[in-house]
Amino acid sequence: MTPASEASAEPRAGAVLTIDLDAVARNWRQLAARAAPARCAAVVKADGYGLGAVKVAPRLFQAGARVFFVAHLEEAVALRAVLPGEAVIGVLNGLIAAHASVYLAHDFVPVLNHLGEIAAWRDEAGKAGRALPAYIQVDTGMNRLGLDSRETARLIAEPARLAGIDVRAWISHLACADQAGHPMTAVQRTRFAGIVARLPPAPASLANSSGIFRGSDLHFDLVRPGCALYGVNPTPEAGNPMASVIALDARILQVREAPAGGSVGYGAAHALARDARIATLALGYADGYLRTGSGRGFVTIAGHKAPIVGRVSMDLLTVDVTDLPEPLCRPGGWARVIGPDRGVDQVAADAGTIGYEILTDLGARYQRRYTPIG
Ligand SMILES: *Cc1c(COP(=O)(O)O)cnc(C)c1O
Repeated sequence: MTPASEASAEPRAGAVLTIDLDAVARNWRQLAARAAPARCAAVVKADGYGLGAVKVAPRLFQAGARVFFVAHLEEAVALRAVLPGEAVIGVLNGLIAAHASVYLAHDFVPVLNHLGEIAAWRDEAGKAGRALPAYIQVDTGMNRLGLDSRETARLIAEPARLAGIDVRAWISHLACADQAGHPMTAVQRTRFAGIVARLPPAPASLANSSGIFRGSDLHFDLVRPGCALYGVNPTPEAGNPMASVIALDARILQVREAPAGGSVGYGAAHALARDARIATLALGYADGYLRTGSGRGFVTIAGHKAPIVGRVSMDLLTVDVTDLPEPLCRPGGWARVIGPDRGVDQVAADAGTIGYEILTDLGARYQRRYTPIG
């Protein structure tokens, strides 16, 4: 017989992360409609921006996505196991030549980022006796990944370097698309169009999430949204057009009276100017609630805002519940830390970072629930 305590629906974890896969699918459809007639891929690197690539990607396939990008080879291997064979899986970080057989065995499409990778993939094609698929990235100003301008010029002059390579798309990446009207976006677009026109014909792909919203001249043939799928605002200067995807609820461990003149937490960083009630929640920086968010923003308890006070600890967060009706805030209750009221972008702003980092830092200790957000 199962003891009642083990059969309980009560979460054992200190915090529960709810992930709304229907909202991810809605976001993809919205982006795909905006980008059409360009095709819309889905970037699911970093474990689907922290939300679980093996859950997110099949849901996106169901919604219509056929092209997926990850950063690492191992991420691609994990994805292949959960996606139908017709799904195209691109590996942004390129080709690890020593593991070329893995790319071949799983039909991965490496993003070749320099001439050395192109040569190595061409050699593999020779050995395999067939053309091998690849995306090829050209740098248009980021100076991060992709052929630099000298390498690009050589490839244009010597297209035979591509013998045996089935170029699925020329790609490049925008540095400043999140900033409306940033001049670098137009510069990159013009450079990219000029480069693609001189290379052998293949589809072209430039736009990330924000790029999709900065004009259809950035869409080319394939767009590559990531963050917007997961509810991050791709147009930070305006309202968020994307559906909110996650909610994070933390357990209230203790509620205490804290007299005026005292302080809360490490460093005595929060001084109490009045008699207060402090609730302590079961999440901290070890769960990805960044310490730089100390003393900023609020959580919501039964619909009431409670300001975050004091430093974020490793496993604990303290909030001031003095102004909440007492019966609403009891040990064993729950506080909403991230949700439609205070989304990932706001949590990020309070911690001095970006929504991407909040998502990819989401804690391994959370109980994860894949269900619409209540
Ligand atoms: C991460 C990444 C994307 C997705 O960017 P978002 O800003 O999250 O939409 C697209 N392309 C490349 C090359 C990337 O590295």
